[in-house]
Amino acid sequence: APSTVQRARLVLGNWKMHGTLADNAALLAALRQGAGNHCEMGVCVPFPYLAQAESLLKGSTISWGAQDISVHEKGAYTGEVAGAMLRDFGCRWALAGHSERRAMHGESDQLVADKARAALAVGLTPVVCVGETLEEREGGNTLGVIERQLEPVLALGADALARLVLAYEPVWAIGTGRTATPEQAQEVHGAIRVALRGLGVPQVRILYGGSVKAANAATLFAMPDIDGALVGGASLVADEFLRIAAV
Ligand code: PEP
Repeated sequence: APSTVQRARLVLGNWKMHGTLADNAALLAALRQGAGNHCEMGVCVPFPYLAQAESLLKGSTISWGAQDISVHEKGAYTGEVAGAMLRDFGCRWALAGHSERRAMHGESDQLVADKARAALAVGLTPVVCVGETLEEREGGNTLGVIERQLEPVLALGADALARLVLAYEPVWAIGTGRTATPEQAQEVHGAIRVALRGLGVPQVRILYGGSVKAANAATLFAMPDIDGALVGGASLVADEFLRIAAV
């Protein structure tokens, strides 16, 4: 029988490589001010701005996190940032395997799972991103690609899965203004849910990402297995982001 587990809606922003101290101060103040009647909400900011996010969001209902994490604890890894460092700045979240990192930094499915494990080891909640390219979708391989990307993540086991968040982000929908239809997204979310249910963790939240805006969030969130959103561009505009979280 279908699970009736309740999953609290989560809306996370991914600023990518955007922001300045001045712009962030205004954005974070507006989010804090508008925080009220919305679901669980967080922002994933560039590393240099974690201290600013902590100081401006501390004591609010909005959490913050990073866009990446090293698999290593510490050591000679120039340019990498360890999970313990993220914890030092009060992070709640660490994205793992965003498609831009998979595509531009060669992150493998196994590395992404290792990053999720590293995040869990220090008490961060990993947000593991998966998604197919347009070519893969048009070749009819969407579910196969998602399955391949998730395999090492699912292998982390039920205890780990129960403490992470997944994000389905079709690459062709990211930053393109071309969002997946709610039905297209639900098809993938539903398939992931079947796998999660089989492992005894139907409660894992699955966010959708890819050109989410206030205007399309409600129909996406109405789907049974879409538990929130990972929002890029629209998370840089306070009013738009707040409206998505207030759906
Ligand atoms: C993202 O970066 O995760 C994303 C979904 O971007 P956008 O909302 O801009 O498509």
